[in-house]
Formats: sequence, C-alpha cells, structure tokens
Amino acid sequence: MSAKKRIDEVLATTMYSTPGQAEFYQAVDEVLQTLEPLLQKDKKYTDNNILSRIVIPERQIIFRVCWIDDKGVIQTNIGYRVQFNSAIGPYKGGLRLHPTVNLGIIKFLGFEQIFKNSLTGLNIGGAKGGSNFDPKGKSDNEVMRFCQSFMTELSKYIGETIDVPAGDIGTGGREIGYMYGQYKRITNRFEGVLTGKGLNWGGSLARTEATGFGSVYFADNFLRKVGNGLEGKVATVSGSGNVAIYTIQKLYELGAKPVTCSDSRGTIYHKDGINLDSLHLIKEVNRASLTEYVKAHPDAEYIPVSEYPKDAHAVWAVPCDLAFPSATQNELNLNDAKTLVKNGCILVNEGANMPTTPDAIEYLMANKVLYSPGKASNAGGVATSQLEMSQDASMEKWSFAEVDTKLQGIMKNIFNLSYETAEEFGEENNIMMGANIAGFRKVADSMLDQGAVSKI
Ligand code: NDP
Repeated sequence: MSAKKRIDEVLATTMYSTPGQAEFYQAVDEVLQTLEPLLQKDKKYTDNNILSRIVIPERQIIFRVCWIDDKGVIQTNIGYRVQFNSAIGPYKGGLRLHPTVNLGIIKFLGFEQIFKNSLTGLNIGGAKGGSNFDPKGKSDNEVMRFCQSFMTELSKYIGETIDVPAGDIGTGGREIGYMYGQYKRITNRFEGVLTGKGLNWGGSLARTEATGFGSVYFADNFLRKVGNGLEGKVATVSGSGNVAIYTIQKLYELGAKPVTCSDSRGTIYHKDGINLDSLHLIKEVNRASLTEYVKAHPDAEYIPVSEYPKDAHAVWAVPCDLAFPSATQNELNLNDAKTLVKNGCILVNEGANMPTTPDAIEYLMANKVLYSPGKASNAGGVATSQLEMSQDASMEKWSFAEVDTKLQGIMKNIFNLSYETAEEFGEENNIMMGANIAGFRKVADSMLDQGAVSKI
C-alpha cells in the first residue's frame, strides 16, 4: 500500500473511531501528511503500523472535579489527562484551564507535545491535560479549592518519573502552587512532580520566561539562516499571557519593536511599541483587561472584538515584518494570512500551539513567508521544564544565565535539526516538514525498539 493511502486510511479510522474532535484531526492531518516522504523512503514505519499506533494515546483519564464556590454552592467540572506517548521518556505536558477545553482539544495538544518534546533532544514523552474550569473571575479561594480537588484525582496518575504536568492557558504560578501543595499533602512526597513551580520550592529560574524567549530565539535563528535579522523589525504579537509577554520582552532585547498584543476581548495597537511595564502590571499583577492599557497610554489604540475585520483578527491587520501568534489555536486564518502577505510580512513564528489554520499555512508558504511551527518554535517552555526536572532531581539550583544559555542552545539545535531534516527531504525552509519528520523519527524508532505490546 502506498504511503499516501496508508495516511488517508489512518486519518479516516481516527475520525470514525473518535468522533467530534476537530482540532485533534487537524493536528494529526498536518503531521501525517508531511511524513509521506519519510514513509516512502523507509518502509519500516508502515510495515510496523506505527501510524495507527501513534495516533492513539497510551492512556486517557477523564474525571469529575467537584468544588465549592464562595457562596457554598457545589460546582462541577471535567478533568482530563491524556498520556499520549512514553516511548522516549516520562509523560510531560501542560494543564489547560479554560471553558473551551474538551477531549479533542487536550488530544490535539497531547499529540503535538509528542513531537515537540522529541525535538528538544531531551528524554520526555508527550501528554496534556486540563479542565473546562475558567479561573477568570474566580476568587483565589475558589481557584485553590478547584486546584485541590483536581489534584486529588490527578495525583493517582502522575509522579516525577511517570508524568510531570506543567502550566498552559489559565494555569500559571498560582494554580501550580495550589496543585503542588495538594499533591504533597496527599502523597507526603516533596518531588519534582510539576514544573513551573515557585522559586522557593523547586522552581527553575527562567522557566516563566522560557516559552516567549525561546520563540524569539527560534525566529532569530531562522532569520539569520536566510541572511536577515530581528534588528529594526516591526513585530505583531497576539495574546497577553505568559508566552506573549516574554515574547515582547525578548523582541525588545534583540532590537525589534513589538506593536500589538491582545486578549479574548480586544487588541492593543501601540505604534511606538508596547509598554512592557504596563503589560506586566495589567496582566500579571492585576489580572485585568487590556482596556486598562489605553487608560495609561492614550496614544495607543484599543480595538474590541466587536470591531475586528470580518472573519479576521485585528492583530494581523497591523502592518508588520514579523508575526508572533501567541494566544490560542486557529487564531490566524486565511484572510489574516492574505493581509500579512499584502503588508510584506516575512516571518510567521508560532508561540501558541497550532495558531495558524492549515489553509493559512499553505498560503503563507506558497508566498515565501517563512513559517515556524509551534511544535518547534515554542518548545523552549517544555525544554526548560525538563531543566527544572534535572535541577530537582540533582538538588541543584542553576543561575538565570545558565538556564537561559542552555535554552538558547536548545532552540538553536531544534532549528538546525528541523532545517537540516527539511533539506534532507529536498524542501529547503519547510520547517514544518523538517520538525514533523525529525520529531516523529526519534519517537517511532524508539517504539520499534521497544516492541508492540500494550501496557499490562
Ligand atoms: P495564558 O493563559 O498565560 O495567556 C493566554 C492568552 O491568550 C491570554 O491573553 C488570553 O486572553 C488569550 N486567549 C486565550 N484563549 C483565547 C481565545 N479563545 N481567544 C482569544 N484570546 C485567547 O497562556 P499562555 O501564554 O501560557 O499560552 C498561550 C499559548 O501558548 C497556548 O496556545 C499554549 O498552549 C501555548 N504554549 C504555552 C506554553 C507555556 O509555557 N505557557 C508552552 C508552549 C505553548 P484572556 O486573558 O482574555 O483569556
């Protein structure tokens, strides 16, 4: 059977056997389609049915999370942990707390995580979890009670050499703290079971900054490869959370000018450059809306979602050289891609997971816009989480500079591996293909080494 036919068959079976998981199919489709040249070159992957094995999680856990709100009312949410693949190491991947979370979203994120973690060159398997709980608008006590209830169940399935969750949308230092406290209470173990921990109790310096910094390091490597650089470039960034804030900071440090940020309610366009101090204060300290930003900076423009261009995002309508989608999935569509191309954008570098729709990716690449897929460009977060695990295991504490230097090295290696793999298959600059093939090859070879037996 041809590689193409096998890919189509696995996709069809996946859609039939796991209905209603659109984001998961999108992620599987993107990875599998780009593997075709590898599958043609080396028959061992199809001969051993690796495709049909790799799209099924090793284990998925779905559980009820009950907690009591400040009025004494019992609230109920759904908790998830999808332990997708442990061929190269213990499961590792974040926990998303957002009302849109469902099994399909967690599976798409877990699937991406397999290849991302592989690309880091570190021994970490792929997983993801979370809940449809929305921390927004909840008191600290409500968030704490939710996190404690969530961890009471999750604690049965994780451990420092089994599965090490981390943050993601809605899960920051506060949530990790409450979850860690509960894990310790239940198990009586002080161990590196979560990453993104506080600096006083096992966290790593530079972990908070790692995904955003790593994303910009990746962009820098890509631009340099094609004889360009970040210096003097105008950048648009979406989001105003962990990834976006530290992307903006590193863009400034490397000489670019970030002019936008956004949240779920609107977009800020500040022609002179986003004020980082204001952004930190509004988002990290006050947990407020970006409407606060224009109060402090009347020269900036606020565009509410209701005034976005039809079927498009206001961030991508701002002329730029570089675009950094850093909020959520499918936030940059074909209309946005057309606007970016028209405005002369040269690079789309994903900080978020799967922020660019497939037709937008195709359009960007067809128009020679450099495209960095999230599984490569945002891998700095999970890589630094693994550095946190190393420090916890060895009871060491590395300096910010030490961690940041390692992060830069890892991002350079990921870029080079993706670039060289793309070249190996005759597709120069197709980092999406290079990253997918390189990430897949290491995991698939490990699965072959370990034999095809289900867990007992
Ligand atoms: P945060 O929760 O810190 O911030 C998310 C940001 O995106 C907020 O500004 C939020 O706005 C906005 N946002 C979220 N959902 C939507 C939506 N549906 N529509 C519009 N805006 C939205 O999350 P992170 O910064 O940690 O994560 C951002 C992305 O990066 C995600 O795709 C995540 O999976 C990915 N990522 C994160 C890593 C990490 O280390 N944190 C590592 C690798 C990838 P609002 O506050 O209004 O909701």
